[in-house]
Amino acid sequence: MKKWEENIRKVSPYVPGEQPQTGDVIKLNTNENPYPPSPGVYEAYCAVDFGRFGLYPDPVSGDLVRALEKYYGLREGQVFVGVGSDDVLSIAFQTFFNSDRPILFPDVTYSFYPVWAAMYRIPYECPPLDENFRIRPKDYRRENGGVVIANPNAPTSIGLARGQMEEILRANQDVIVIADEAYVDFGGETVLPLLDRYENLLVVRTYSKSRALAGMRIGFAMGNERLIQALGDVKESINSYPMTRASVPVGVASLEDEEYFREHLRMVMDTRAWSKGQLEKRGFQVMESQANFLFARHPEMSGEYLFEQLRERKIFVRHFSGERIKEYLRITIGTDAQMERLMAALDEIIPDLF
Ligand SMILES: *Cc1c(COP(=O)(O)O)cnc(C)c1O
Repeated sequence: MKKWEENIRKVSPYVPGEQPQTGDVIKLNTNENPYPPSPGVYEAYCAVDFGRFGLYPDPVSGDLVRALEKYYGLREGQVFVGVGSDDVLSIAFQTFFNSDRPILFPDVTYSFYPVWAAMYRIPYECPPLDENFRIRPKDYRRENGGVVIANPNAPTSIGLARGQMEEILRANQDVIVIADEAYVDFGGETVLPLLDRYENLLVVRTYSKSRALAGMRIGFAMGNERLIQALGDVKESINSYPMTRASVPVGVASLEDEEYFREHLRMVMDTRAWSKGQLEKRGFQVMESQANFLFARHPEMSGEYLFEQLRERKIFVRHFSGERIKEYLRITIGTDAQMERLMAALDEIIPDLF
């Protein structure tokens, strides 16, 4: 080993779902939205002023922050935006988790949390989900340096009721509690109404799933002004101009067509209900989903085998190797046509004898 190599940081990075760059696949592996964003988003994108590309953007993305405050009925100073919610969460970990006590998040949840914790040298502990893959609020009643709950949880797709989230909040008023609501628009229960009662609550959202804008990288956090101020200070210590000139008007425009938004959420949820029934007909056990994906296992066939067989047929789903979840597939809800192709492929893969 070269001397200089000793000082290179060693990390085990988060492994995102594959992004095949050819068009010829059915991509149900990263929970993207199968529909385009609203027509107004396209217009806003086309109206971006090329003549100003040489100038740095607004460092605080004020237009987008104000539009989100208005949309969610918040006060000025209650929204922080970033380059996808991964950026927002990463900054939140650095901002709020600076004690010697471990932060808490479930053993089965978004696999980026342990990566950030390791990266920022934050101790952490992972209370296990119960045997039905549900979060038990009472597990979060112990000394800790912060709490992170994805709600609905990933990759299980299961949501926690607001009352149960409040149980966690009530027991943890001396630390920051992050509710990662990446999937809440697909039928979950938000804790947004609790913001005024718990000044230590930070709600994190993304445009990547429900707003069909994963490619534009927009995420945000909502909370008490003091928390938002602290996030801003840390962000200013990393990167002054994270959001591009295009993402801000695009993010604003997405909020302006509520009808389009609601209609397309409904389409995803309808396809989800159909797909769950179809998978169950084929022998799968499927968790009750409040997200834009299904978490399912087949009692007779291994998760890895199904994943590989689908992949050979150019259908990409997500498979995790963690001990508790290795027999499961996480399947993003695509269009009706894509889900029909998935079912046809499963009919080839799964023999009739079961
Ligand atoms: C997808 C996802 C994110 C990150 O989304 P961005 O594209 O970075 O906004 C964060 N949390 C959970 C639970 C997710 O599933």
